[in-house]
Amino acid sequence: MQTIHMSDIYGQYLTLKAEIDEAIQEVIRSTQFIKSGKVLDFEVRLAAYLSTNVVACGNGTDALQLAFMALDLKPGDEVITTPFTFVSTVEVLSFLGLKPVFVDVNRETFNLDEGKLEEAFSEKTKAILPVHLFGQCANLEAILDLAQKYKLFVVEDACQALGTDYLFSDGSKTKAGTIGNIGCNSFFPSKNLGAFGDGGAVYCTNKEMADKIRSLANHGMKAKYEYERIGINSRLDSLQAAILEVKLKYIEKHIRARQQAASFYDEQLKGIEELKIPMRVPYSTHTFHQYTIQTEKRDELKNFLAAKGIPSMVYYPKALHLQDAYKHLGYKQGDFSVAEKLSQTVLSLPMHTELGEEQLEYIVNMIKKFFENSTPQ
Ligand SMILES: *Cc1c(COP(=O)(O)O)cnc(C)c1O
Repeated sequence: MQTIHMSDIYGQYLTLKAEIDEAIQEVIRSTQFIKSGKVLDFEVRLAAYLSTNVVACGNGTDALQLAFMALDLKPGDEVITTPFTFVSTVEVLSFLGLKPVFVDVNRETFNLDEGKLEEAFSEKTKAILPVHLFGQCANLEAILDLAQKYKLFVVEDACQALGTDYLFSDGSKTKAGTIGNIGCNSFFPSKNLGAFGDGGAVYCTNKEMADKIRSLANHGMKAKYEYERIGINSRLDSLQAAILEVKLKYIEKHIRARQQAASFYDEQLKGIEELKIPMRVPYSTHTFHQYTIQTEKRDELKNFLAAKGIPSMVYYPKALHLQDAYKHLGYKQGDFSVAEKLSQTVLSLPMHTELGEEQLEYIVNMIKKFFENSTPQ
């Protein structure tokens, strides 16, 4: 059996090698490396796939920064978000002088608990920043209702959810990241659509706002050497765009591969009493950036699997309100008990587009073996 990887970027490359290699060569021949050629082609293709405007940028963290720069909030304005996410989400707010205000997550979905949002609002609340963690959407209809009622912006951190569909109660569906005022994506290599380096994108249906974001990402430029605002330099380069353009053609196939692996895990693991499989909500598809189980025996299971040659990861081992860098926000242990509990019990299993049947069977058999041999708590 082949070595099991947490994420198999090289294996996926081999299935597309001829096309990717040719696309890279094309960029080198063209010498259009920056803000031209393949970057513009890729933006157009991604915009068509998502049915919105797309501004490519340097990475997902920059995408979040650009989104909040575009909203023109004032220092001290509050943004409601989750403590159970990758650090970028709060880093960017803090960097811009905005105040992250945490709301606990739902134990089953790992996403913002919509029932707890309203009690966190204050006079200074200006935006809600839901994260569609692991590839499944937060409850956007509930979030949008509150945003409308309190006149708040909604910025979606869709870095883990490219290709996920939000399923509205009226039966319509829309791609994750294109529903709030602004959406943010990352092309970090292991993400649903991964580059061979850094990359990101901002989505914005409002054309004027999208143009503003484009200007912000390009030094605040209006026309050549005319600057209309203070911006930053954040760009996707053409080599990454060329790779992403090839991979985007196969995104649906790649998502199906992840979903098939997830269904296999679900089917095989659902009977284990001491393990909880990820919940599927009715309002979103799940593209399984990660397949994340919960168990009280997380650390023992992780060690057991490692000894059997099976990698696994803890996303995330420490909630953000307990991190040293964010102490000044004034939170303490116990403030977000669900996020804290999850940081002790979650375990993400190998998940990528190249997992074979033999590998999947081996993984679930080892997990079953672990729980058969361990005494129930
Ligand atoms: C990956 C990720 C980011 C940051 O993306 P980078 O491209 O690494 O800067 C932000 N938020 C979430 C939820 C992510 O998973």
